[in-house]
Amino acid sequence: MNPFSVTAPSPRARSAALDLGEFVTASPSSFHAAREAARRLEDAGFTALRETDPWEADDVAGDHFVVRDGSLIAWSAPAGADTASPFRIVGSHTDSPALKLKPNPQLGAEGLAQVGVEIYGGPLLNSWLDRELRLAGRLALTGGATVLVDTPGILRVPQLAVHLDRAVTKDGLQLDPQRHLQPIIGFSPVDVLEVLAHHAGVARREIVGLDVVTVDAQAPALFGADEEFLASGRLDNLTSVHAEVEALITVAGGARRAPAAGPAPIALMVANDHEEVGSASRSGAAGPFLEDVLVRLHAALGGDESSRRRVFASSMVLSADAGHAAHPNYPERHDPVTRPRLGAGPMLKINAQQRYATDGVGVAAFVAACEAAGVPHQHFVSHNAMPCGSTIGPITATRLGMTTIDVGIALLSMHSAREMCASADPLLLQQACAAFLRG
Ligand SMILES: [Zn+2]
Repeated sequence: MNPFSVTAPSPRARSAALDLGEFVTASPSSFHAAREAARRLEDAGFTALRETDPWEADDVAGDHFVVRDGSLIAWSAPAGADTASPFRIVGSHTDSPALKLKPNPQLGAEGLAQVGVEIYGGPLLNSWLDRELRLAGRLALTGGATVLVDTPGILRVPQLAVHLDRAVTKDGLQLDPQRHLQPIIGFSPVDVLEVLAHHAGVARREIVGLDVVTVDAQAPALFGADEEFLASGRLDNLTSVHAEVEALITVAGGARRAPAAGPAPIALMVANDHEEVGSASRSGAAGPFLEDVLVRLHAALGGDESSRRRVFASSMVLSADAGHAAHPNYPERHDPVTRPRLGAGPMLKINAQQRYATDGVGVAAFVAACEAAGVPHQHFVSHNAMPCGSTIGPITATRLGMTTIDVGIALLSMHSAREMCASADPLLLQQACAAFLRG
């Protein structure tokens, strides 16, 4: 291929971006993201532990993972890991903004069958219009079992024609969240639960609970004169989940150097659900999942509360979440000096109000990881008059008391049904995460 610009991705970066695309396609919901992460880890030799089983030293040594609903924690404990081994943790979130099915989702008008939805998180609602949408998530069945469900693109929210909405050109699109977002699924009547049952391979009468979202059906694709960019849904934050899974697999499979001081760290990843709605849930970062697993893991190695507190004090968290690149059409929305670029490597995200957990000590740890990996890095800080997002970083730091660093790759169109990043960045984040996990 002829490179037309200076930033054509390397073959290795390009294949990492395509692999991220496959990860996104396999992960239409948080439950699927946890399952796909588990599948990749299992293929790499990690074994599943269940929270309902007792964990002894033999159970937690080596490479393992635990799934709780739409969240996953995995770790690789080096040979000789003991009650003095600190944790090196990379965290992210599995959920993305979406339209989510209501209970009793049957609706319809004008001879068309529709699906009742509510809004999950903060989607750019216009981007959900005029796209074929998949239904994906988890069904709870009579008797307590659960099953994942995933349909092809069978829904659509059609935008009102411009002829019937003359104000749209002047005033912009106005969407009433109750009346204007209900997707069409067919000619009336269509039994939505029957459709879900069919795609899940269960009987309709078995379905008693729904955790199902609608997501863009279009496959991720590289684009740009040199395929410099990746267009895809859910880059916030599957870029980070994918990077930490691949980084942990790399670290677990490689030889580990003895650290300069102290025992080799236990490399661990957490991917929490519900970040887009504030993280307060049993599987979200404000819940006890990560602390539960860390406490049990440390106890299984023979530690007590005192040794655990010492280990927590010497552990660190890298909270990876997508951030904003400076937008060429809206240059005034960004800090005048710090202008993150697509393709320039992971961003260190900094905010004086602690919307990001990064402090100077954390910056130094991440810069050291980037230098060890030969990865460029850049800074993100908000324009003072703009609101700032947040991440699992400050919540995790508050729960565990560990030094926490917020990082992530730069996106445009964040919270669109189809976001974009540079093809070069997924590999760079992966390499930085691996270096951080090695300690
Ligand atoms: Zn995010």
